[in-house]
Amino acid sequence: MSIAVQSVPDARGRFGPYGGRYVPETLVAPLEELESAYAEARADKDFQAELESMLRDFAGRPTPLQFAARLTEHLGGPRIYLKREDLLHTGAHKINNCIGQGLLAARMGKRRVIAETGAGQHGVATATVAARLGLECVVYMGTEDMDRQRLNVFRMRLLGAEVVGVEAGSRTLKDAINEAMRDWVTNVRTTYYLLGSVLGAHPYPRIVRDFQSVIGREARAQFLKAEGRLPDFLFACVGGGSNSIGLFYEFLGDAGVKMVGVEAGGRGTRLGEHAARLAAARGFSGARPGVLQGTYTYVLQTGDGQIATTHSISAGLDYPAIGPEHAWLADQGRAEYTAVSDDAALDAARTLARTEGIIPALECAHALAGLIERAAKINRDQIVILNLSGRGDKDMEILSRYV
Ligand SMILES: *Cc1c(COP(=O)(O)O)cnc(C)c1O
Repeated sequence: MSIAVQSVPDARGRFGPYGGRYVPETLVAPLEELESAYAEARADKDFQAELESMLRDFAGRPTPLQFAARLTEHLGGPRIYLKREDLLHTGAHKINNCIGQGLLAARMGKRRVIAETGAGQHGVATATVAARLGLECVVYMGTEDMDRQRLNVFRMRLLGAEVVGVEAGSRTLKDAINEAMRDWVTNVRTTYYLLGSVLGAHPYPRIVRDFQSVIGREARAQFLKAEGRLPDFLFACVGGGSNSIGLFYEFLGDAGVKMVGVEAGGRGTRLGEHAARLAAARGFSGARPGVLQGTYTYVLQTGDGQIATTHSISAGLDYPAIGPEHAWLADQGRAEYTAVSDDAALDAARTLARTEGIIPALECAHALAGLIERAAKINRDQIVILNLSGRGDKDMEILSRYV
């Protein structure tokens, strides 16, 4: 199968039937302004050079593509390479996108950036980049999440960001999103809304994908150099979907490269127990197309269309919707989506720690668990790239309860 990689999204921000722009009238003009500013930046050599230099000197790119010899031997299946996004400044891939959008905000003359955050990882990455670029930074966070993630709240404040607690509703991420949207509508002339994954209204899913696709661009070149051919499989975890599409995108035109996105299977297949939006074939229930946060995509919802509660041991995967480009790749069968349980992810984290000396974030431990489940069915002469999206320091409390 071949895919016209460059043609998605179309002019209306659609990936097949998914994506688009479902927003109040007041946000249409700002999104159009963003779209044209981004098109100009993309074509501007100076912007690209600035982006490249900040990714290199501030974030630590390129990240290594490491052959995992002991993990490979341990699993006895395909040969495994790890793309080491965990080695980046702030410990995960999120910084790639924050640097890109931070530079875009500065270029647009917006001196104030706002963001919303659940577990705080995106808030910390945003606050980090805002400090580096001298931008004012406001992060919205549900007060329930603030209680659970005190250390990240402290990090953001230390970096000079204002953290605004949101008391509304369940006092978690979706309430913080509403509050950030309200701020943006009110202050749109001076303010840039920095979105954290391939979600939201057009053009965000495309912008975030482009900034994260540096992962796959590097990995493809590094792999060709090491092996003289293309990999057989790519594995990545899927929360909103940014690290996975970042790895997949550059390989979409390579028909022989299979792609597997691994979602959070939580503690069961019933609605409310998991955050698996594209794994219905594996028995995970409750996902169907709908609109959330300005985009049309697969959303976990109740029979009467209320957004469902979700569960995952990993905060970064615990979200009811998925990026619209993934919904489209799933429909076409170009990428395959599966889900693994909390327990499988914890086991995988321990396996990686003991075989390779790397403690992974629980998010990408899901990707490894997905690979472990599958490894026996993959030939030994095949080769896999696994995206190690982040390091596990932030998950020590959960891991220590388990081990
Ligand atoms: C936030 C996060 C994720 C999930 O987000 P995506 O947009 O799906 O990549 C995955 N891994 C880590 C380490 C994260 O911090």
